[in-house]
Amino acid sequence: MSMIIAVNAGSSSLKFQLYKMPGYEVLVQGNVERIGLESGQAVIKYNGKKEVVQDVFPTHKEGVDFILKVLLDYHIIASLDEIEACGHRIVHGGEYFNQSVVVDDDVVSKVEELCELAPLHNPAHLIGYHAFKEALPHSRHVFAFDTAFHQTLDKERYLYALPYEYYTDLGVRKYGAHGLSHQYVSQQVIQHLGNPKRSRIIVCHLGNGASISAVEDGKCIDTSMGFTPLSGVMMGTRSGDVDPSIMPYLCKKLNKTAQEVLDIYNKKSGMLGVSGISSDSRDVEQALFKEGNERALLTGLLYARNVSKYIGSYVMELGGVDVIAFTAGIGENVPYLRALIIDDVARALGCHIDVALNNQRSDESRVISLPSSQVEVMVVPTNEELVIVRDTVRLLGINEGE
Ligand code: AMP
Repeated sequence: MSMIIAVNAGSSSLKFQLYKMPGYEVLVQGNVERIGLESGQAVIKYNGKKEVVQDVFPTHKEGVDFILKVLLDYHIIASLDEIEACGHRIVHGGEYFNQSVVVDDDVVSKVEELCELAPLHNPAHLIGYHAFKEALPHSRHVFAFDTAFHQTLDKERYLYALPYEYYTDLGVRKYGAHGLSHQYVSQQVIQHLGNPKRSRIIVCHLGNGASISAVEDGKCIDTSMGFTPLSGVMMGTRSGDVDPSIMPYLCKKLNKTAQEVLDIYNKKSGMLGVSGISSDSRDVEQALFKEGNERALLTGLLYARNVSKYIGSYVMELGGVDVIAFTAGIGENVPYLRALIIDDVARALGCHIDVALNNQRSDESRVISLPSSQVEVMVVPTNEELVIVRDTVRLLGINEGE
């Protein structure tokens, strides 16, 4: 028996899941939140129980120490030596990594170099990695990259129509994001289809961040996020695609720097900016259905149109589509937005949702379209941690037992 920990370090949070091998049994999962703030908290779920602990976590190092202490104090493990490996989610792997890798000094220095392209995320991942490495000197480590699944894009799909040297000299191109989720969901759909050789899938990862991808025969051929996770569809607080000329116009009109306006694009736009209510779709939904708030209605319609435009363009790229799959917080839990999106593409694609199935709550992967629908519509709960752990097991030759 051995344990593997999947680690997902965000800029101010540290999510983890501890797996028992063989068999991929999740023993405990949790999230250390508000790292670096005056008051932090940790949520730990194990044995069907949920505990919330208030504490202060000045850096990710204290977060890691807290997690390992919990594992010992709750008798989930008897000794830290039982943790054989750590799999870490890394947001940006640039062009260096088209799959997960076992960590060595060269890998670490490349991820360090890529901090410039993901300044909020890669440094946090590295702090998490170093803290686990120090606390668990005997463990082996694997990095799983959120950009890797999108490295199969053709050049004509990842290049911007800017001077070519900006790509060759400065690395300006589309990298995509949420790759672990797109990979997991598309593989689940392919299994659902009976593992055919040919398949055309559009995955809509709609969470606080959101991205759409086109997956042909298991390979990603296009995705909506770009050089950074700001582009593509509108999100909780991010604008998604906007005309680049709006930037200098706003700088002049608001007397702000480019960085300040970019902050508005990242933190004050999307659902929050359009609705003026919240970045959380639950608040917007409540304002719509309880108060008939018009801006909330507009937000939903704009959101659906943003997503359906990408679906339309990916149907063209794929030459058709077999399955449209929804995942992540909104994709898994918000039926009225799924219905609005499918409604937008129904006329062109002949796809129709079963209203009762769409409204049903479930944590299971499921079909929500009518049998007569020409395209299947599915909800597939994502599991990025499982992708990380599977890759860790495969790369380190750990017994899967399945
Ligand atoms: P994520 O980034 O995947 O955690 O998704 C967060 C988004 O999902 C927020 O806009 C939430 O409001 C939305 N959401 C709606 N319903 C739920 C739910 N039952 N559980 C989690 N997230 C939800």
